[in-house]
Amino acid sequence: MIFIECNEVSLGYQGIPVSAPVSFQVKKGDYLCIVGENGSGKTTLMRTLLGLLPPLSGQIQWGDGLSGGSFGYLPQQPELDRAFPATVEEVVLSGIQGRGLSSLWIGKTKREHAIRCSDELGVTNLWKKSFATLSGGQQRRVLLARALCSADGILLLDEPTAGLDPAATEDLYAVVKKLNQTKGFTVLMITHDLAAARQYATSILHMGETPSFHADASEYFTAREQGGAINE
Ligand code: ADP
Repeated sequence: MIFIECNEVSLGYQGIPVSAPVSFQVKKGDYLCIVGENGSGKTTLMRTLLGLLPPLSGQIQWGDGLSGGSFGYLPQQPELDRAFPATVEEVVLSGIQGRGLSSLWIGKTKREHAIRCSDELGVTNLWKKSFATLSGGQQRRVLLARALCSADGILLLDEPTAGLDPAATEDLYAVVKKLNQTKGFTVLMITHDLAAARQYATSILHMGETPSFHADASEYFTAREQGGAINE
């Protein structure tokens, strides 16, 4: 089943494109890694998929009632966010604001949903702690639990392991793999970590090329090894 289909989508701000038009498909259960040099438009693509920016031209089609609002989003984590003055509970619960859960049961429903998401990430025992006091790896798990709260089956992760040490990086990749392979989440991940992309991705979108290059992961890495049309 096709979740997202982008046809010649031009990305940019105030009418000015930041990349060559992109065309790609995402199917249910895919693990798409979006790679390419800094400034090639990867984050702009995520903002466009989330509906925060309109495409300058081209078409984005959604499968099965999906929309940008169906995504759980883990943005890049600037240094400032790491000292965010809130409890873990508050951070996770903020992920389900605006999901349209209603009725008298809203409080209970929200909380139960957030606890399920926290359980999935193994962070429910941290709920009463201050977010700022957690390790980088724990913070990223909490933010992933927050993203999970608002996800209808799709996760958008913008450099989720940036700044983490190797052990925390492996831990995060293992969590994302579990969400993808055993919980059925479709994953779109921006990364510079090509070794991880080779290990986990089912397909690759390489931005910064003219045109951008989208292929099955095995085809992509074969083309790289053969010194094909893909440049770093
Ligand atoms: P990447 O994620 O691949 O590093 P980005 O999507 O962040 O690239 O940025 C692509 C280009 O868009 C860059 O040249 C960047 O300076 C520009 N850009 C990013 N945000 C804005 C914005 N809010 N307004 C105008 N230009 C922007």
